[in-house]
Amino acid sequence: MTDGLGGGCACGVVRYRFASAPMFVHCCHCRDCQRQTGSAFVINALIETDRVAILSGDPEPAAMPTDSGRPHQIYRCRNCRTAVWSEYGGLAALRFVRVGTLDNPAALAPDVHIYVRSKLPWITLSQSTPAFDAYYDSAKLWPVASLERRRAILG
Ligand SMILES: [Zn+2]
Ligand SMILES: [Zn+2]
Repeated sequence: MTDGLGGGCACGVVRYRFASAPMFVHCCHCRDCQRQTGSAFVINALIETDRVAILSGDPEPAAMPTDSGRPHQIYRCRNCRTAVWSEYGGLAALRFVRVGTLDNPAALAPDVHIYVRSKLPWITLSQSTPAFDAYYDSAKLWPVASLERRRAILG
C-alpha cells in the first residue's frame, strides 16, 4: 500500500517515505495555492506527521501570508528550495504533503477538488470526484477510518 509513497525534493537532499497511505487527498484550486506553486492547483496528501519518515534533509518552514490570519508554513529543502509539505493552522501533527514530490505522483489521485470557484477555465474535472466552490464538510466525505485517524491526532 505504501509502494511508491516515497519522495523528495528536486536536488535529492530531502527524502521522505510515508508509513501508510494518507487520510485524504485534496486538489486545491485556490488563488493562494496557484500563486505559491506558480501553477494551476496544488495536490496535497493529508497525513499524520509521525507517518512521514524523513530519511534525509531537514525541510525549513517559511511563513505564508494568509487572508484568514491562520498560520501557513511551507516547508522547503534548504538547498534547492523545493516545497515538500505544508503545515496549516499551527497543527504540527498534520502534514499536507505535495503529491508532485512523490517518486510516483500517479500513486495518489485527488479525493476532492476544493476552491473550484478559482479553478482555471481550461481544466475539466472528472465528474466522479467531488468538487466544491470553496471548502467542504470532511465529516461527510472522509472515510470513517480516516476521520478516526484525524481524531487521534487533533482530538
Ligand atoms: Zn533539495
Ligand atoms: Zn489552496
